[in-house]
Amino acid sequence: MRKKIAAANWKMNLRFEQGVQLLDNLLGRNIQLEDGQLVVFAVPFPYLIMAMEKTKGHKNYFVAAQNCHNKQSGAYTGEVSAEMLQSLGVPFVVLGHSERREYNGETNALLAEKINEALSKGLQPIFCCGEPLQIREEGSQNSYVEKQLQDSLFHLSEEQLKHVVIAYEPIWAIGTGKTATSEQAQEMHLHLRNVLAGKFGEAAADDVSILYGGSVKGSNAKELFSKPDVDGGLVGGASLVADDFTLIIEAIK
Ligand code: PEP
Repeated sequence: MRKKIAAANWKMNLRFEQGVQLLDNLLGRNIQLEDGQLVVFAVPFPYLIMAMEKTKGHKNYFVAAQNCHNKQSGAYTGEVSAEMLQSLGVPFVVLGHSERREYNGETNALLAEKINEALSKGLQPIFCCGEPLQIREEGSQNSYVEKQLQDSLFHLSEEQLKHVVIAYEPIWAIGTGKTATSEQAQEMHLHLRNVLAGKFGEAAADDVSILYGGSVKGSNAKELFSKPDVDGGLVGGASLVADDFTLIIEAIK
């Protein structure tokens, strides 16, 4: 079933004690989530166990890793495998964030391998896609993002797709304060759902949660999430501010 999701991406921010404080603050507000409404905290690796402990007992509050390796195990110093995350009980992993594509050279093909590795260990990938400014200005964003899906997700079975969340994050809107309009988000999300329907069938495509990411704030979340194909958000900056992220959580309800 398609879910409404407010996902926080802490990126490489916050000291440990600040992370503890932020989670205590947010979880202490006791915002009750219904079935089909999820909050996910994508925290840095060293904070995963703490976040798992904190969210335990809070219905529909979950934890995500921000990345995992494409190989199962081996001589990859400094890397973290999907199996390690599985062994901690981490349910979600963000894959293909534009910052990893840019700074770590992650390609669509590599991401297809990461998706396979994550799914094979029972993790649910939050697969990020989105176009740079130049592509948007040229007007070729639809085919650009479509190819990201084709190259990284189209080898999956319909059953596997059920465990994938997609986050559309136009790069020009990430961390820039420049949010896509709700119409721009809806247009792309509908396009992506149609692309998925063409490959996996209408029912499967209808079940996929497609989140929007790019300067989502407490002040614009409600409008963005009100669109029929926008199933919540992946949120960077505003997820570090308890009052702001609270409004974003409220906006999926
Ligand atoms: C992100 O990190 O995925 C993101 C969308 O960041 P921001 O909300 O800060 O634009």
